Amino acid sequence: MLWEAARVISRWLGEIPLVRRHYEGIGSILLFHRFVPPPREEWPALPPWHQPHKRLSALWKYYHPRWNEARADALCISPRQLERLILTLRHKGYTFVPLDTLLAAIYQPDPPHRLVCLTIDEGYTDLCTQALPIFERWQVPFTVYVVVAYAERRLFPWWLGLEDLLRQSRAFRLGSELYQPDGWAARGKLLLRLKARLIQYPPEEACGLVEQALRAAGLPVEPYYAATLDWAALEKLARHPLCRLGAHTLTHPCLPMLSEARAWEEIAQAKAILEARLGQPIRHFAYPYGSVEAVSLREVKMLEAAGYVSAVTTGGGSIYPEHRAMPYGLPRRRILEDSKAADLYRPRQRRLVAYPYAVEGKTA
Ligand SMILES: [Zn+2]
Repeated sequence: MLWEAARVISRWLGEIPLVRRHYEGIGSILLFHRFVPPPREEWPALPPWHQPHKRLSALWKYYHPRWNEARADALCISPRQLERLILTLRHKGYTFVPLDTLLAAIYQPDPPHRLVCLTIDEGYTDLCTQALPIFERWQVPFTVYVVVAYAERRLFPWWLGLEDLLRQSRAFRLGSELYQPDGWAARGKLLLRLKARLIQYPPEEACGLVEQALRAAGLPVEPYYAATLDWAALEKLARHPLCRLGAHTLTHPCLPMLSEARAWEEIAQAKAILEARLGQPIRHFAYPYGSVEAVSLREVKMLEAAGYVSAVTTGGGSIYPEHRAMPYGLPRRRILEDSKAADLYRPRQRRLVAYPYAVEGKTA
């Protein structure tokens, strides 16, 4: 509640022109994951009053904050809300540009303002079915960060399966451990805990554990493998005039946890495979998970050596001219169903976000 009040006040402060100018920077890179229309038919096990588009959802959110913040499908936006946001930003004077244009603006002596760049992680299939028609209607360019093993159908985004497991099964085993969460709040806490643990595992192992548990619970695993775009869809997307593709590693690991050789493989081979398969230069990179813990200066050096020109994190913030010295630590704003246009310029604790640079610089 307090946090929400602080957000409303800072949004209001951001409307003051000088304050707005200070915090909006050159522009923002927006981060999307899934585009899911209401009603969420693909989530049949959700209690109906849990769906954000239903009236009681605010009450549900208030009483079950742990479950709510833990949900993987909280990283969704409905197509209706996406279109509304695009139109609101246009109305407020923002211009939608490709990532390369935004990067070029950083290097200009007198950079423009109010540029917005759309990026999508993983590339779930709903990008093509739900969001693409909207991007085409309003001519909005976008960048998709692709995980090679998901396109190859070798691995899947295990967090989707884990969430369904918690939602649909009262007791399940993950490896040798048995879990029996009681109630939605307990499930939310457990989901957060298990996600934090599985992020540290090699992705093959995390996927294997979740797959095994899904099968034991009698749940199908095929939908999770089919949740992201395959090579055929990506090849089609690569030819789309509004789309640019970037790399999101081979298998979606937490990079700093890997050995030097394996991390290099994840970074360099992803670029080589995507370029060979999709026939366009891959110059942009997104760190898996993108948090402070999932990004380090070692990867920055590797990205530069591999020939990438930019890398994005999930640290929320605007893009400033200062980022020209830190192109492998660009912040992005996560856009969810309740995000507002005013979030792009509201005052924040830290104006400039550019980890790993700033974080490691501080601790060194
Ligand atoms: Zn990702």
